[in-house]
Amino acid sequence: MDSTVSDFPARLWRGLVDLLTPSLCLVCNTAVEEPASLCVACWAKLRHLDEPVCNMLGTPFAYDQGEAALSAEALAEPPAWDRARAAVIFNDEGARLVHALKYRDRPEAGLLMARMMARGGRRMLNEADVILPVPLHFFRLWQRRFNQSAFLAQQLSRLSGTPWRHDVLLRRRRTRAQVGLDQAARRRNVKNAFLVRPSQESAVWGKAVLLVDDVRTTGATAEACALALRAAGAARVDLLTFALVPSPGRPHK
Ligand SMILES: [Zn+2]
Repeated sequence: MDSTVSDFPARLWRGLVDLLTPSLCLVCNTAVEEPASLCVACWAKLRHLDEPVCNMLGTPFAYDQGEAALSAEALAEPPAWDRARAAVIFNDEGARLVHALKYRDRPEAGLLMARMMARGGRRMLNEADVILPVPLHFFRLWQRRFNQSAFLAQQLSRLSGTPWRHDVLLRRRRTRAQVGLDQAARRRNVKNAFLVRPSQESAVWGKAVLLVDDVRTTGATAEACALALRAAGAARVDLLTFALVPSPGRPHK
């Protein structure tokens, strides 16, 4: 049977339920007025990551050090990407939002996350030629049936008008989950794990690429992607994530 026909009563019912039930805070499930939003208390608990930040790592500075200032960490060990920004520091509320998008099938969490990312990453978005999500291996994609980074990239494309592509960057092998690995082990885990699909190199060559992911922990995954993009001739690689984990190595989800 045609699935769109068989789904119709279910979709109609869901539409009616949505009309009659209040929108719920994406973190604590209390009633809120706006769909895809947080209650005032949860919004205040998010640790918004505003300027001033290190231009390369996106990590917060205690005071403004001028445009394009770099942290000691960035100078000591420059990443393979050019600039990075995140909307929030990863904390309990940020984790619940990420979880709502990733596992609880609440895509509206992704709408809110993308809006917050577009705000903090406005400049990188304006200067990007193409938005690429960090890819999942097809096996994990099949298990989860959803790539949260692709969803965020799609929403950022909708908000900015910059095109996004899901078929350019590939994960060529399965990597074990990064949870619980220290920084060195994470680097080993993702080394050579990504490549630009050879038939799609023109999408990257000489272009300003904006790489998108939900959470940046040590940055090892983004680093591996940035190296693959550089190898394919990307002129610039910027990184925009929803959350940034401040002290790498600590398991967070
Ligand atoms: Zn709440």
